Amino acid sequence: MCICVDCAFVDRCKTYYAVEEHHGVKHISQKPDFQGNNPRIHINILDMPDREIGIEWDVRGCDSFQLDNGKWSRLRPGEEIPK
Ligand code: SF4
Repeated sequence: MCICVDCAFVDRCKTYYAVEEHHGVKHISQKPDFQGNNPRIHINILDMPDREIGIEWDVRGCDSFQLDNGKWSRLRPGEEIPK
């Protein structure tokens, strides 16, 4: 799970914007203006049906992380958190 979904900066963050881009999901912010310090991105390569390959991007560590539990869910009430 990407730690960004519980980070106070998720709706301003350029790194999270890039993660959304790789996941092909809609953006929380159209114009992110914050660059987190030293984000560590975990990339997982998955075998998919029909010999396709999927790639998952998750931020697993970041020096700018500031806990705000459920921030993403409050911005998108009722929607499933991207995995
Ligand atoms: S944890 Fe880091 S990369 Fe993720 S939203 Fe927060 S500042 Fe951005």
